[in-house]
Amino acid sequence: MQRKSERQSSRGLGESPRVIGHYIGEERGPLVVAIGGIHGNEPAGVMALEQLFDLLREEPLVNPGFSFRGELLALRGNLAALRSGHRYIDTDLNRIWNPGIRREQATSEDRELDGLLAAIAHALDETPASELILLDLHTTTAAGGVFAVTGDDRPSLLLATELGVPVIKGMLSNLQGTTLSYFRGGEFDFERPSRAITFEAGAHTDPTSVERALAATVNLLRSVGCVRTEDVSTHHEETLRRAAAGAPPLLELAYVHRIDRSDGKGFAMRPGYANFQPVAEGTVLADDASGPIAAPCSGYLLMPLYQEQGEEGFFIVVPYPSTSCY
Ligand SMILES: [Zn+2]
Repeated sequence: MQRKSERQSSRGLGESPRVIGHYIGEERGPLVVAIGGIHGNEPAGVMALEQLFDLLREEPLVNPGFSFRGELLALRGNLAALRSGHRYIDTDLNRIWNPGIRREQATSEDRELDGLLAAIAHALDETPASELILLDLHTTTAAGGVFAVTGDDRPSLLLATELGVPVIKGMLSNLQGTTLSYFRGGEFDFERPSRAITFEAGAHTDPTSVERALAATVNLLRSVGCVRTEDVSTHHEETLRRAAAGAPPLLELAYVHRIDRSDGKGFAMRPGYANFQPVAEGTVLADDASGPIAAPCSGYLLMPLYQEQGEEGFFIVVPYPSTSCY
């Protein structure tokens, strides 16, 4: 441990409030960037990553054979919004990862993005890593949903399915400026492969969401070879399997209901909807000033919005392969 902490102080980024931890293993492997709290009202991911670093500190003491391949850089996403407990301050931090586009007036989130990019670039500058892997940890306003979202590239999809929760594909082409699109788009100065996964750990306020975010992170570290299977408790596997029970393993985005906050029409979900709730075409799901909003197709409801901030009212996903909603 002594040698590790010396290496961390020379190369690591442990002093910044942005950085939860930067763990550098003895052996060469991938660089995993895990981010919690990209949305400030979703602290579960941050808490899970803090717990993970406690575990990494303790593990060599109770398990002398423990070893780690590669690096784990864990970051807090939206520091100002995490302090205030809001999704964001000026604009959604998970919709502005657009390379080269800079607004005239920098928002609070532009500054957060700069901080995140600087921390990642610093780690990439010095890493001998063979691969870059993003794990972006989120939670939802509605209950009942634990799932992973990836791009449609096979390596990311395969890795996501190893987490043991439903995987949603088809999101990247419908949502611009997300962490997923940036990491998949090869925007970093890093000429090696990359994979990217967003993990939704459950409801914002459910204490078990922290446990599930931790389980997903540990499982991912095992799947990419950072930690060995024999060093990982099966408890994490069970936590995720329990949470995923009943939902199809692979689904595709069929419809996203966008909200234009500037049109004054408002948006309110009808009460009682949960993630993965089956809905039939024509079912009224929400209302705005124009009247009731019905499901344009049958499928499973995802991320119904029960909070003031957010640009998408709800998503409908369908098992894959399937015919799409449009
Ligand atoms: Zn989120």
